[in-house]
Amino acid sequence: MIIRSVEVRRQSIPLHQPFKTALRTVTHAESILIFIHTDDGRVGFGEAPATIVITGDSLDSIQSAIVHTFTPILIGKSVLAYEQILHAIHYSMINSSSAKAAVDMAIYDLISQHCGLPLYQFLGGYRDQLETDYTVSVNAPKEMGEDAIRYVKAGFNVLKVKVGKGNVAEDLLRIKEIRSCVGAEVKIRIDANQGWQVKEAIHSIRRMEDMGLNIELVEQPVKASDIEGLKMVTDAVETPIMADESVFSPAQAFEVLKRRAADLINIKLMKAGGIYKAQIINHMAEECGVECMVGSMIESRIAVTAAAHLAAAKKNITRYDFDAPLLLRNDIIEGGVRYVGRVMTFPATPGLGITNAAIGEKVGIEL
Ligand code: MG
Repeated sequence: MIIRSVEVRRQSIPLHQPFKTALRTVTHAESILIFIHTDDGRVGFGEAPATIVITGDSLDSIQSAIVHTFTPILIGKSVLAYEQILHAIHYSMINSSSAKAAVDMAIYDLISQHCGLPLYQFLGGYRDQLETDYTVSVNAPKEMGEDAIRYVKAGFNVLKVKVGKGNVAEDLLRIKEIRSCVGAEVKIRIDANQGWQVKEAIHSIRRMEDMGLNIELVEQPVKASDIEGLKMVTDAVETPIMADESVFSPAQAFEVLKRRAADLINIKLMKAGGIYKAQIINHMAEECGVECMVGSMIESRIAVTAAAHLAAAKKNITRYDFDAPLLLRNDIIEGGVRYVGRVMTFPATPGLGITNAAIGEKVGIEL
C-alpha cells in the first residue's frame, strides 16, 4: 500500500445563510481537498477549510504546505507504517494544523480501508450513531429567537448559540429570547468565541444562572491565550465551561487540564492537526475526568465525516457539533456520514466510506 500520487483541489460552496460569530461572518465554505492515491488503487480523502482568524490557515497556505512540504514526504511511503507518516507530517513544520488534518484524515481513510473496517470501528467503535446540535448565528435577539424556533421545528433539540458580539447586556437578551421561544426542553449551549472580558463572562453567566435560563455549557468565554482568565471564569460559576480556541495541541490541553482551567474541551481536527493528535487530547482529558466535544469549522461532508468517525469511536467524546454540512447549499460527495435530521449514521463500507468527491477546481501538481 504505497502512496503513488497526491491530488489537490479547491472548492467553494455557498451557505444557505451567513454564519455569524463574534470572530467572523462566513458566506461560502472554502476548502482544499486532498486525494491520496496508492498503488493498490485506493484513494484516501481529506479536506481543510481556510479558517484564518482561528487557525491562521488560508487556502494558499494549506495548498502550499500540502504541495511543497507534505507531498514529498508522502510519495513512496507505505500506509501500513502510518505512525511514521503522521509523525513526519507533524514534525516537518510548525502550525499549519488544517493542512496536517487534511493529510491525516486521508491516511486514516486508507489504513482503515486496508483493514476492512469503517474508520469509527478502526478507532474504537464505541457507538454507531450521533446526534448533532445546530448553530444559531449571532444577530439581533428577535431574529435569533425566530431562527431557534425554525431549527427546533426541523427536529434539532440542542442549540449552539453564538454570542460575544456587541455588549454583554444584549447577549443576555439574546439567550432570554431564545429560551422563551423554544421552551424548557431544548438544550442550549453558548459559544462566546472569546468575545467577553473575564469579569463580563462571570457576571453574565451568573445572571443566566439567576434567571434560570438553564445553560448546558459556555464555550470559550475569554481570549484563547488567557488560560488564567478561563480558569477564573470556570472557578466562579456553576455552569460548565468549555475550552475551544484555547486548545489546539496536546500541550495546550495538558496546560488546561493541569490547571483545571475548563470543565470540558472542544476538539476539532483543524486545530489538532487531525485524528492522530486529537486522540491524544481526548485520552489525556479522559484520564483527568474531562469530557470532550468534537466540532468542526465550516467544512463540507468530507472533513466532518472524518471528525464524526472519531467522535463515534470514543467513549469520552460525549457532545457533537456537526451541523456545518447542513449549512451548505450543495453537497459534493457520495458516501460518508449520513444525516436524517439531527441523527448521523455511518456507511458500513471501510474507511471514511466516501466513494467520490465530484466538485473542486484542480490546482497544484499531481506527482
Ligand atoms: Mg467554539
